[in-house]
Amino acid sequence: MSSVSPIQIPSRLPLLLTHEGVLLPGSTMRTSVDSARNLQLVRSRLLKGTSLQSTILGVIPNTPDPASDAQDLPPLHRIGTAALAVQVVGSNWPKPHYTLLITGLCRFQIVQVLKEKPYPIAEVEQLDRLEEFPNTCKMREELGELSEQFYKYAVQVIAIRPIRRITHISGTLEDEDEDEDNDDIVMLEKKIRTSSMPEQAHKVCVKEIKRLKKMPQSMPEYALTRNYLELMVELPWNKSTTDRLDIRAARILLDNDHYAMEKLKKRVLEYLAVRQLKNNLKGPILCFVGPPGVGKTSVGRSVAKTLGREFHRIALGGVCDQSDIRGHRRTYVGSMPGRIINGLKTVGVNNPVFLLDEVDKLGKSLQGDPAAALLEVLDPEQNHNFTDHYLNVAFDLSQVLFIATANTTATIPAALLDRMEIIQVPGYTQEEKIEIAHRHLIPKQLEQHGLTPQQIQIPQVTTLDIITRYTREAGVRSLDRKLGAICRAVAVKVAEGQHKEAKLDRSDVTEREGCREHILEDEKPESISDTTDLALPPEMPILIDFHALKDILGPPMYEMEVSQRLSQPGVAIGLAWTPLGGEIMFVEASRMDGEGQLTLTGQLGDVMKESAHLAISWLRSNAKKYQLTNAFGSFDLLDNTDIHLHFPAGAVTKDGPSAGVTIVTCLASLFSGRLVRSDVAMTGEITLRGLVLPVGGIKDKVLAAHRAGLKQVIIPRRNEKDLEGIPGNVRQDLSFVTASCLDEVLNAAFDGGFTVKTRPGLLNSKL
Ligand code: ADP
Repeated sequence: MSSVSPIQIPSRLPLLLTHEGVLLPGSTMRTSVDSARNLQLVRSRLLKGTSLQSTILGVIPNTPDPASDAQDLPPLHRIGTAALAVQVVGSNWPKPHYTLLITGLCRFQIVQVLKEKPYPIAEVEQLDRLEEFPNTCKMREELGELSEQFYKYAVQVIAIRPIRRITHISGTLEDEDEDEDNDDIVMLEKKIRTSSMPEQAHKVCVKEIKRLKKMPQSMPEYALTRNYLELMVELPWNKSTTDRLDIRAARILLDNDHYAMEKLKKRVLEYLAVRQLKNNLKGPILCFVGPPGVGKTSVGRSVAKTLGREFHRIALGGVCDQSDIRGHRRTYVGSMPGRIINGLKTVGVNNPVFLLDEVDKLGKSLQGDPAAALLEVLDPEQNHNFTDHYLNVAFDLSQVLFIATANTTATIPAALLDRMEIIQVPGYTQEEKIEIAHRHLIPKQLEQHGLTPQQIQIPQVTTLDIITRYTREAGVRSLDRKLGAICRAVAVKVAEGQHKEAKLDRSDVTEREGCREHILEDEKPESISDTTDLALPPEMPILIDFHALKDILGPPMYEMEVSQRLSQPGVAIGLAWTPLGGEIMFVEASRMDGEGQLTLTGQLGDVMKESAHLAISWLRSNAKKYQLTNAFGSFDLLDNTDIHLHFPAGAVTKDGPSAGVTIVTCLASLFSGRLVRSDVAMTGEITLRGLVLPVGGIKDKVLAAHRAGLKQVIIPRRNEKDLEGIPGNVRQDLSFVTASCLDEVLNAAFDGGFTVKTRPGLLNSKL
């Protein structure tokens, strides 16, 4: 039947003793290697430069006997399975341990054990016939050559006279092919031939498919190679969408999809216009930097839409292995291409818009620096030749439009930052959020939940309630989620209502009342609010008022917090800038008997610790002026006294000099026993001489104070110019004090100022 000669396994085999069952010929199993004997075998046979694929082991099932000496070779089964070691994974730390992936080839019988240490080697006799490949493979190879010839001639014929019959023939031939069982390889081969991949890639594919044809299907490498080839033919080597760009239409689309964010929209339009005129993509990569939920991704998606391009988001947060970007080498089972090539496969064209999300959260590890790989992806000088390790041939990325997003520029690797043009996207004011909710978020949520404005009504005051009492964010992501929760709850009510209406409609008009009573007894629905807590179908539209809000979202999360926390001396509100936007930040101080120690908690950076020391020193040197004393009536504030300063939330790292004025105010409150005004927040760096220096992030900080419902903001005088960028309505709601020295800060922070005469009698009480 066959003219193929059988494969002979070596007559001497190293023996691997496994206690994980019997390995059958043709099957694959993982076995863990931890005994000293097997470890030796793996080290000297598999990890010493010999080619892994050619290593054949004799696998003998073995039940460990705890009574026997581990040094001695246990009695061995006479029959075992010769196996190919396909993969070794593991490490030497904390103790050596490996896992082997082995594929059974055929059975053998031990003739004689030749050596026992350090691992057993036996002379063996092969029991089964092992054929390299079935007959059909040879046929396929011949067929492959024939079809290559056929293709060549056919191309020539078409070139001379395009005949209609060729379509018929190819259709018929395709059917014939498909009739064959197991003809994946023929199909693959055809796809490779007809694919428009570049010459180099084509060559690799032809070579790989030849190899594939010679492999038994049971070999793990067979699947590896097939997956590889399937990816190669699927990749959009030459497939692209045609750009359509009309700047006027782009402006309308951006405006329709996004409220506010004028600066960002303007810059994006400029970018698109330049692209249109220059007709190439060289130039800096746009990077949108701002807090979460301010619409960075959404603008990226709109750019793709305006250009008529596919859009794909690549999340880089937490990526710390360069193979995430550039793929794994194809030597391992489970190796994969990187995210760039995967993204191209997903979108199916070679000119998508790729949104590189959170470039500021790239990590680094022993597996290489993903930022370096990304740099190669973004560099127009290099990216037409981008080589993913898995593909191992170049793919041209020069037509891809990359846009990056980040929460902060501080942690973007410098080399990457250098290639990018940063566009800041600040947080929204409450009014902007209300507009965004009513123009965009609510309509989208209604559509997603199958609701109409005739069924649900969310007044603007309710939206404001959600914004101020249920969310605390610079963007609108939580707001969107809360609106989603409301729509879900209403969808249930509407669906229940329709069910009841149907029931009522079916009943006779004269029985109608009875029927209603019946529903009332049996099917009491959960309530959205008192008004809808009836068995009758709810009245439409369902109005979401504050009661309904409480019913669906629970009690408000952020209420009264500020004034509650400022109800005792030693607390002040500062303003911090974080990558997530501005934040109000409480500073708390307490004092106790001690030796003049200062304790600082709340994960503070060095600069912030220095601010705390500066604040104490300034207060100590001005204690007499302000009549500040410790619990023992001494102007030496640290005499027999310890001070503890805490910056909640304790788990968030904080740094920077801008808390200086807040620390001074907080300590002034502690030592004077007076409460700081609960509606004032402040920011500013201090000097030892009591001057107030300018700080950054004023706009985000002011928005945070506004969000928190505060009324007054103290800022350094030299920051006055930054107030111009603050939206008018926010400026109207807040009053600003600009201070150039600490006297002015303290006078504004305490009701009635902070002069000695207004000092109340609380002064000497122990807190
Ligand atoms: P980011 O990428 O900045 O974290 P997203 O783009 O994911 O934020 O925005 C979150 C949601 O808020 C999206 O549904 C987005 O459409 C919406 N959104 C944010 N800003 C605006 C805006 N100015 N106008 C309309 N919708 C917005």
